[in-house]
Amino acid sequence: NAHAAEKPNYVITTDATYPPFDFQDKNGQYTGIDQEILKTIAEREGFTYTLKPMSFNSATQSVASDQADAVMAGMSITDERKNVFDFGTPYYRSGIGWAVKKGSNIKSLKDLKGKTVAIKTGTSGADYALSIQKKYGFKVVYFNDSDTLYNDVINDNSQATFGDLPVIQYAVKNGTALKVMNPKSPIQAGWYGFAVKKGKNAQLLADFNKGFAAIKEDGTYDKIVAKYLGASA
Ligand code: GLN
Repeated sequence: NAHAAEKPNYVITTDATYPPFDFQDKNGQYTGIDQEILKTIAEREGFTYTLKPMSFNSATQSVASDQADAVMAGMSITDERKNVFDFGTPYYRSGIGWAVKKGSNIKSLKDLKGKTVAIKTGTSGADYALSIQKKYGFKVVYFNDSDTLYNDVINDNSQATFGDLPVIQYAVKNGTALKVMNPKSPIQAGWYGFAVKKGKNAQLLADFNKGFAAIKEDGTYDKIVAKYLGASA
């Protein structure tokens, strides 16, 4: 159709610091599993976008408040969020992990009594920590980005954190001095999804899903994941 309407240039937000899903390479270009998936799909489906990296909380809020079209940021699909967002095909299985400083003598959740737990604003890890806060008697301190949060634990300002298990494990593998307490068993296992505001940007969502099905089918998705997490991931 020669008269097909041109697709808009979308505004897509992401988490500025969320390796291996979203992060800057040494040239300052955004890369990672999410960003390679998104770029590949956009090229296949013929849409363009401007990427806006920010805190995860701002990334989701921007979409909820119509300041951006979509978010691709290791965002967990939850029933609560489905009231506000429409999610694309689930693209990565994740879950919550908790971690302490390497060498810490914290052995179980009971040892968190009176301690401070670092959580990331607006995340499912934060929600989970808050849901068990009374039971285990810890304080919480909020951060907007994962790096600053990890450093708070490593510098002994806080004693533990709850966040996405594969993301914390990736940080540990790359030298962050934390120890994951539940390496084999994610709490609240669930999926990541690309999200638009509920009832909005249906074309973008359909394009994403169409492209995602194609890259799952032809092996591109597996190659992208393996590049960052190894073939066994
Ligand atoms: N998966 C978590 C969530 O959706 C954390 C995402 C993130 O910090 N980028 O809340």
